[in-house]
Amino acid sequence: MSKQIPFEMVLEQAHKYRAEMSAFLRDMIAIPSESCDEERVVLRIKEEMEKVGFDKVEIDPMGNVLGYIGHGPHLIAMDAHIDTVGVGNMANWSFDPYEGMEDHEIIGGRGASDQEGGMASMVYAGKIIKDLGLEDKYTLLVTGTVQEEDCDGLCWQYIIEQSKIRPEFVVSTEPTDCNIYRGQRGRMEIRVEVQGVSCHGSAPERGDNAIFKMGPILGELQALSHHLGHDDFLGKGTLTVSEIFFTSPSRCAVADSCAVSIDRRLTWGETWEGALDEIRALPAVKAAGARVSMYQYDRPAYTGLVYPTECYFPTWKVEEDHITVKTLTRAYEGLFNKKPLVDKWTFSTNGVSIMGRHGIPVIGFGPGKEPEAHAPNEKTWKDHLVKCAAMYAVIPLQYLSELEG
Ligand SMILES: [Zn+2]
Repeated sequence: MSKQIPFEMVLEQAHKYRAEMSAFLRDMIAIPSESCDEERVVLRIKEEMEKVGFDKVEIDPMGNVLGYIGHGPHLIAMDAHIDTVGVGNMANWSFDPYEGMEDHEIIGGRGASDQEGGMASMVYAGKIIKDLGLEDKYTLLVTGTVQEEDCDGLCWQYIIEQSKIRPEFVVSTEPTDCNIYRGQRGRMEIRVEVQGVSCHGSAPERGDNAIFKMGPILGELQALSHHLGHDDFLGKGTLTVSEIFFTSPSRCAVADSCAVSIDRRLTWGETWEGALDEIRALPAVKAAGARVSMYQYDRPAYTGLVYPTECYFPTWKVEEDHITVKTLTRAYEGLFNKKPLVDKWTFSTNGVSIMGRHGIPVIGFGPGKEPEAHAPNEKTWKDHLVKCAAMYAVIPLQYLSELEG
């Protein structure tokens, strides 16, 4: 039998650490940590993990920080990516994105919702587990992962494939507004390229204009975007042209190449092969002899490590009656005496590699709200930090009790 869960005491402890979590989050926000430049924030997180009594804290060769609580046989992981996007146009912020701000209820700053708040709650969940002696037949692995904003899931491809770490499931602490999320659409980054031949712009008939050849392709891509897959839970597949490039010797010349980037979101049942093939089958793509390919990602981590991958991020979901959904639902009911909302993310998370590529179940519960992500005046809620710390502290024991049936 696993231990009884002292829900009320856990909540009390979580409330007690509201100020510590807020201060820790403000510290993380104050350290700029865009993708591939996370070293200082990783060291700050390691320091806090050690301070609150994690049993072991390591930084792996990619630069991810891995903190462990306990020594039991069931490995359970919780993940926050700790890189952030840039700040965008400063004129849209009403406070400094790194200095941040707070009042009784909220904390503002880049990374508040997306998603250093999740990190703050996880570290203090570790402290609560230690305070209340909630260790049992599990080992809790808390990860602060890098490069997610640049290439979601790459960090966990490395952790699973190279470090050979395979948890029984992973809790993603990306913002869910304290709801339980069990899936997301996948995505891929596609490039369509056409070649032409340049010549003097005064006699265009001598050349072959690559931009003109791209024109009908764009029209057909737009039409295609209205006929993509649909799933009742995850919603529809989408396609949008996100970038356009060209080469031309001058403004007085015929362009000799043109390329576009496509952001394709894949719903349940859509595959990367299918998404490429449906573009290759477009009449204008065939007529232009266009090349359709998937982008590759090979940007070095802050440690210098390069771990190349294709820019394909598979769709994933766990079923409604999966043990992870039951675990989080019962933990939520035990703590808050009400039923949780079970839903999905609109954006993408590290779940694409953990569940999408490697089949390790992922379940989401995080502080903050999705619309705050990448937006000016990003903020999170102190109550969310408290709720999430309490949830993370009880999830491992609740899982053991679900396993026992
Ligand atoms: Zn995020």
